[in-house]
Amino acid sequence: LARSEQHRRRLHNLYQDLKGQLRVYCRVRPLNAKEKRIGDKEAMRVVDGTTLEVRSTGDIFEFDGIFGSSESQADVFEDCSDLAQSAMDGQSVTVFCYGITGAGKTYTMYGTPEEDGLAQRMFGELFAQVDTIPQANVTIMGSMMELYNNYLVDLLRPIDWQGRQNPPLSLKLDKSGTVQVEGLAREPAKDPEELKAVFQRGLEQRSVAENAMNAESSRSHVIFTVFLTQDVISQQGGVERITSKLHFCDLGGCERLKKTEVEQDRDRRLEAIEINKSLSALGDVIEAIAKKRKYIPYRNHKLTQLLQDALGGNAKALMYVNCSPAQSSIKETVTALKLANRAKRIVNQPWESPTSPRRPAPER
Ligand code: ADP
Ligand code: MG
Repeated sequence: LARSEQHRRRLHNLYQDLKGQLRVYCRVRPLNAKEKRIGDKEAMRVVDGTTLEVRSTGDIFEFDGIFGSSESQADVFEDCSDLAQSAMDGQSVTVFCYGITGAGKTYTMYGTPEEDGLAQRMFGELFAQVDTIPQANVTIMGSMMELYNNYLVDLLRPIDWQGRQNPPLSLKLDKSGTVQVEGLAREPAKDPEELKAVFQRGLEQRSVAENAMNAESSRSHVIFTVFLTQDVISQQGGVERITSKLHFCDLGGCERLKKTEVEQDRDRRLEAIEINKSLSALGDVIEAIAKKRKYIPYRNHKLTQLLQDALGGNAKALMYVNCSPAQSSIKETVTALKLANRAKRIVNQPWESPTSPRRPAPER
């Protein structure tokens, strides 16, 4: 994107930051090798830094930012690195990716063995922030869970799947409104490398757990959480404790199962039902936050209960809608984009945003 466009986007986000707790980005991945081989066409056009057009249908979608196929992991991170500062200020943060399987959710959130994703980049930024306040006593810990079929598993504990004796983790909301996951392992880390190692260990356990459960990996959610505790000497000389957490969620795919798959396989059918339930519960929560409703429906699923104290209220949320550019999957992609549209604030009044485009509201 042109410099001026980046500048515009940054100003825009600065403005959003003053206004709200939720940012919604879209990321369109490049065509992959298989799509190129079959001569698939690019169905998406990035009109400008905040507008996406679906060529074949003419649908227009507006976001707080759009990352096209040429934009790197570093570009994506640059727009959200400020969330490390928010966490240091005591605000909790939830980052998640939404989209169909193969759209680039895991790539965006957790990267690849060769290239760090958003989570690992944020680890680096967090420790860099910690280094700027030597007078505080800071503890950073990581934990990692997988939510599969409403079954919450600790990925940092050895999993014994013989007869599924491991009790699933259970959730509680304590008196202060903090979510407590009973028995969840928290591993301390003193630098980004240690935190990455904790994360890596969880990822390895993930495939063990999935094999044991005969789970389709695209049908579960993984949540890596960083717990931040700061003991700061206050001006009066006492010690003030500031706590916050950051959730990095790699969500299951939002596609509907094909009818034949649903009919043939009971496991896959249960997965599909549960994943749809959880994603629509999350959608309801995000929509309520976006529309600034008084009542936020956290209780409808374990996923939203788990995120409750880091989503809405004083917390910040960052949602990525990941898209394939391919014409061959355009129907599923447009469905996902329309669902994600629920996360939008009510915009399109010129005075709402200094940069809102002068054109009719996009179709809902
Ligand atoms: P999802 O988690 O949504 O199912 P993945 O993140 O696994 O999808 O992405 C599918 C494939 O596409 C992976 O091989 C991934 O490395 C690749 N990919 C996704 N997004 C990008 C991107 N922006 N640039 C390059 N490769 C990407
Ligand atoms: Mg994935």
